[in-house]
Amino acid sequence: MNGSQLELIEQAAAWVLESHSTVCLTGAGISTESGIPDFRSKGGIWDRFDPKDFEIRRWLASEDIQRRYWEVAQDGYNLVQNAAPSGGHFALARLSRHGRLQLLVTQNTDGLHQKAGHEPDKIVEIHGTSHVCVCVGCGSKLPRSEVHARAQGGEGIPKCEDCGCLLKPDAVFFGEGLCPEKLSRVVEASKRAEVFLVAGSSLAVRPAGGLPERARKAGARLVIVNEGPTRFDAKADIRIQGKTGEVLPALVDAVLA
Ligand code: NAD
Repeated sequence: MNGSQLELIEQAAAWVLESHSTVCLTGAGISTESGIPDFRSKGGIWDRFDPKDFEIRRWLASEDIQRRYWEVAQDGYNLVQNAAPSGGHFALARLSRHGRLQLLVTQNTDGLHQKAGHEPDKIVEIHGTSHVCVCVGCGSKLPRSEVHARAQGGEGIPKCEDCGCLLKPDAVFFGEGLCPEKLSRVVEASKRAEVFLVAGSSLAVRPAGGLPERARKAGARLVIVNEGPTRFDAKADIRIQGKTGEVLPALVDAVLA
């Protein structure tokens, strides 16, 4: 950690200490140190998959894409199931346990915040979860591992046992709407936030990527911790370039010192 990063961390920690309402938005960048690639960095998911195959209408319309998905997704899911939380996940869980983080909004579907001990009722998984599958017809839910076992056990494209419709991961695909209750909870919290912290997100995906702007307009101080550029760097009050697994533990140590 260099001197200017430490100065920025001290300033951000002082704001978090003063704040009565701190909200954090995390993205794929908080999980890269857990071994789960993000989308846009070099070697990320978009280097290996066509994003169009995750567009919901295209996915629902093509048995070819669905079959390929269930063949290939097992590897990705194994990675997620076996991943351990990073220093960034543990740091945010600690901040929350000490009452210094009121809400964590994550764009991630990997469940690593919960694995790090973050209280589930203080997390909104705005893009759903990879650990559950949902029937697109009747909405019934079942563990993802069961669905993979069935896909590999000869079903190819697993279907709901109740209504016969397709099963998909309970994670939001491109073109799908977000859960309205979750969205209104995070919008309200963002508007009330005194500090809004972004960690490991390019902020390229809306509507989640627009939350910092809402919070900023409503008066929050905006702190961005990210390796690469983000869409709101120019509007951030503090922009710390660095790894979430290094910066967030230092920030939380400074808050709780
Ligand atoms: P993104 O890929 O657009 O951006 C990730 C950002 O994190 C990049 O700007 C990169 O520079 C930065 N980054 C990577 N490693 C970092 C590190 N160790 N420390 C600090 N910064 C780091 O991801 P996004 O903004 O989250 O949007 C992509 C969408 O894809 C989201 O919906 C996201 O949840 C989803 N996604 C989720 C996972 C997951 O659940 N782990 C993985 C890939 C994508």
